[in-house]
Amino acid sequence: MPHRVFRKSTPKSDITKLPKLGLDKKHFIADFKHYYSHRLGRDEHCRSPHYAYEALSLAISDRLVERWKNTYNTYKDLDCKRAYYLSMEFLIGRSLSNAMLNLGVDNAVKAALYDLGLEAEELVDSEVDAGLGNGGLGRLAACFIDSCATLQLPVTGYGLRYEYGMFTQQIVNGEQVELPDHWLRMGNIWEIERPEYMARVKFGGRTQSHIDEKGNKRTTWLDTHDVLAMPYDTPVPGYKNGTVNTLRLWKAIATEEFNLQEFNEGDYAEAVAQKNTAENITMVLYPNDANENGKALRLQQQYLLASASLQDVIANWVGRHGNNFTHFAEKNCFQLNDTHPSIAVAELMRLLLDLHGLAWKDAWAITCKTMAYTNHTLLPEALERWSVSLMENLLPRLMEIIFDINAHFMAEVSARWPGDNDRMARMSIIEEGRDKKVRMAYLAIVGSFSVNGVAELHSKLLQEGLFRDFYELWPYKFNNKTNGVTPRRWLAACNPDLAELITATIGDEWITNLSALAKLRPFAEDATFRKKWAELKRANKQRLVNYKKDEHDIEINVDALFDVQVKRIHEYKRQILNVLHVIYLYDCIKRGETKNWVPRCVLIGGKAAPGYAMAKKSIKLINNVANVINNDPAIGDKLRLVFMPNYRVSAMEKICPGADLSEQISTAGKEASGTGNMKFMMNGALTIGTLDGANIEIREEAGEENFFLFGLTESEVEAMHQHYNPQAIINQDSELQNVMRLLECGHFNQFEPGIFDDIIAALKSPHDPWMTIADFRSYIEAQKRVEQAYRDQDRWTKMSILNTAASGKFSTDRTISEYNQEIWKLTPVNVEKNQ
Ligand SMILES: *Cc1c(COP(=O)(O)O)cnc(C)c1O
Repeated sequence: MPHRVFRKSTPKSDITKLPKLGLDKKHFIADFKHYYSHRLGRDEHCRSPHYAYEALSLAISDRLVERWKNTYNTYKDLDCKRAYYLSMEFLIGRSLSNAMLNLGVDNAVKAALYDLGLEAEELVDSEVDAGLGNGGLGRLAACFIDSCATLQLPVTGYGLRYEYGMFTQQIVNGEQVELPDHWLRMGNIWEIERPEYMARVKFGGRTQSHIDEKGNKRTTWLDTHDVLAMPYDTPVPGYKNGTVNTLRLWKAIATEEFNLQEFNEGDYAEAVAQKNTAENITMVLYPNDANENGKALRLQQQYLLASASLQDVIANWVGRHGNNFTHFAEKNCFQLNDTHPSIAVAELMRLLLDLHGLAWKDAWAITCKTMAYTNHTLLPEALERWSVSLMENLLPRLMEIIFDINAHFMAEVSARWPGDNDRMARMSIIEEGRDKKVRMAYLAIVGSFSVNGVAELHSKLLQEGLFRDFYELWPYKFNNKTNGVTPRRWLAACNPDLAELITATIGDEWITNLSALAKLRPFAEDATFRKKWAELKRANKQRLVNYKKDEHDIEINVDALFDVQVKRIHEYKRQILNVLHVIYLYDCIKRGETKNWVPRCVLIGGKAAPGYAMAKKSIKLINNVANVINNDPAIGDKLRLVFMPNYRVSAMEKICPGADLSEQISTAGKEASGTGNMKFMMNGALTIGTLDGANIEIREEAGEENFFLFGLTESEVEAMHQHYNPQAIINQDSELQNVMRLLECGHFNQFEPGIFDDIIAALKSPHDPWMTIADFRSYIEAQKRVEQAYRDQDRWTKMSILNTAASGKFSTDRTISEYNQEIWKLTPVNVEKNQ
């Protein structure tokens, strides 16, 4: 019997119904003072902006919690269909400015801060990023939950609350040094701990089967080492609509009865120390982007997420419907963000079979109607394959279920293609061999009713290549959902002056209907508007220079072309191709070929996975080349190369408004979508890019005359592999020869002999999968077209306006509407109206 807090006779509303909190300046001043002085115990002598940030955030949070409860109760009363976004990463960044914008109180708060003598920007900048993700995939999850709340969709995000997020990057002697990111050190005012929804997750042990009274085989999983999953909830406000959804992040904690035996044997201290093994599970985010990590701890993280989240949803279901799962699939949908949470397919089966007594057929029907899988990459090194022996040790019951799923699936394949053993081996969830593996992507496809890629090209390549056999079997499962970014964070909040100009020109509809930006098109022909547009871009470039200066001193000419490539450092993203172009420009200046020169500042930023040697070497090369160029008086401000350390969400919020040129130069076919490309486009940068991922759709929307295209197409890249001869290409291109000579003679590593040999060898290898040399000439020619366009500042501004005007498609509001219409099928809930 759950104990109750209130006397039976106490009307609940006495304590939970409160007068609405004010949203005007007066109320914010009063609440700020209250929190600053009484809760945080600070006064005017406190010199850290952190406590002012906290006091303001507490006041904002109160308003969010009010709407959060309304949303929760409204969903509960309506008993509506729900979706759950399962993701190992949510790269949220900062919350304060976003919450102010979405609550619609930013002007009132800024006025309050002004009266209090505080600088809004300083408070906002003192918030540490929630860096619970690597890059695009984690940021997408964060943009998605923002759009779900704005579109009034009952969607909950489920993830992990890592104690240490993405590492902080420092550059020492040109090399990346990783520092731990203890982001919770100063506390986190945005989360609420919810021990009442704790879940218990099993690991290890063994299974035991018996035949029940009805003659069905029943399995129990016993002698397990259990871990508790503690939920921490973060509010996710929609844009000015009263909806506040939930992001629920799980933290692993030890059970109370941890290591009972040692405890009983009297080794209390040892037993307490053992708590760490359980609590290590959510200690750290694995810093690998587009790369699998076969560590047992990673599998434990994945299972903790899947099991705790599914148990949470099922507990809710059982609380309302008892053990009747007949309508479960009509009311619930799980979206799997890549294969990382795909063990959920087997876990839902386990919960339905072992805990709720369903028959296999019924449990499987429910699973296949509630799971949907999003693939994020074609790169073979990113495809997760867990060793069967590891799974048997760590998750023995799950491994049995996967074998059973595969047996049923193989029977289906064999019925469709009798005697085609090759195809059976190709499609099997279990990869045979000395060390058998579970192919997690196949498990996800078999257990899902929807499989999507993240841009048109990527979805097509999935169907024709990686998942061809599955597409033949189940064509109706496959679909595309081109990624997007939220225009609240990535335009309205990060570029307030441009947002204001846009709103003054076409109204504010664009904030929730980004295709309305198309109304800007005619203003590209308006000279007054162009002048304002160009002035704002220049101010944003100045802001970016100032931001850069805070970290390390370097003279940058604001009128130079700001040429920006920020993203994870990866060979397929080809930061090295960018560097080759910079060396080419350097060589031109040194040879005196500077007629009509366009001053250029090349900014590169991004983190390398700590175990990825080539990526780390790329960072060193960028910094060494930068050193030579920036310290050469003959180069002056004609050319600058700057590495921006510690690229993260809050850095991008300052970088994308100030970019002129967006570098999206991956080898065609390798970048599934990209989302950095969309943030830049929205903020009026022009793109130089290959026909890869969403670049193709960006070019379609902007028009080919407003996009700098270069490089081999995906099919040309594939065809080229047969006869790729980079040396022959170098031999035919004297300017490329100059670039290679500078690299090879050690011009950029005079006192560090040989350190770039592996980069040079990779470029010149006929087996180079990234074909950097193949695209060099085409890239140089495209960069010349960039310069030609930039020389005519008025033409450039026109193109910039037209890019922003054409960026409407790349809102996650559009993406999420498609997920909802074609996969989730949720009914939007107007919380304010339904209250
Ligand atoms: C948008 C974003 C990314 C993704 O960038 P791509 O260029 O698409 O790889 C990665 N990291 C951060 C911090 C971002 O904001």
